[in-house]
Amino acid sequence: MTTIKIAYLYEDLMNTYGDCGDVKIIRYLLQKKGYDCQVVNISLEDDLPAFDFDFIFFGGGQDFEQSVVAQDIQRHRSILQQYLEAGGPMLCICGGYQFLGSYYQTSSGQTIKCLDLLPLHTVFNPDKRMIGDTRYQTEFGEVKAFENHSGQTFFDDPHKLKPFGKMLQGYGNNPTDGIEGMQYKNVIGSYSHGPLLKNLNVAQALTQRIITWHQRPVKVPSV
Ligand code: GLN
Repeated sequence: MTTIKIAYLYEDLMNTYGDCGDVKIIRYLLQKKGYDCQVVNISLEDDLPAFDFDFIFFGGGQDFEQSVVAQDIQRHRSILQQYLEAGGPMLCICGGYQFLGSYYQTSSGQTIKCLDLLPLHTVFNPDKRMIGDTRYQTEFGEVKAFENHSGQTFFDDPHKLKPFGKMLQGYGNNPTDGIEGMQYKNVIGSYSHGPLLKNLNVAQALTQRIITWHQRPVKVPSV
């Protein structure tokens, strides 16, 4: 049986509101298609050989855990950049999504340096907790989920990033833009917990992307 490998970034620190369910749903769908599935927790001080994996998942976290992760994650910036630019599939939820941008300014006013892989940034706004059910339209169809964050995310280059969805209910990235998450190549960032992939339209599309990536002829990036 062919094995598909999933890297779960900082599973022990970044896993709010059932985000681990996203990985379980992907594993279930892959197994139904006849693949064996191995999930590896990449945590503090672990190596990340990104091109050994067929999918990278990064869940949400509280500000404190994000500040702990921030002290470790910069080591992986370059390999993650190569992976996402090469079209590797990745799903990043809430705090994980915020890490893709340049910085996250937290509740205490501290600025967490993020990975700066994509042109977006996030600022905590104590006056506006965005919490509740969400509904939005995506290219995969309608999505229903749950959000709970005070970080407001803004695109710094809207030409480079595509919104993941257009809001029908709830806030998404921030209270003004009316959009949820972002897409860049095979990377999806989203504020949706619940988990997001209980929406089988998105889960099945992502599973297909993972299988396609797994079947790519050249596994290692050229240097
Ligand atoms: N701590 C971040 C915020 O409040 C992310 C929250 C989360 O990942 N659920 O915006």
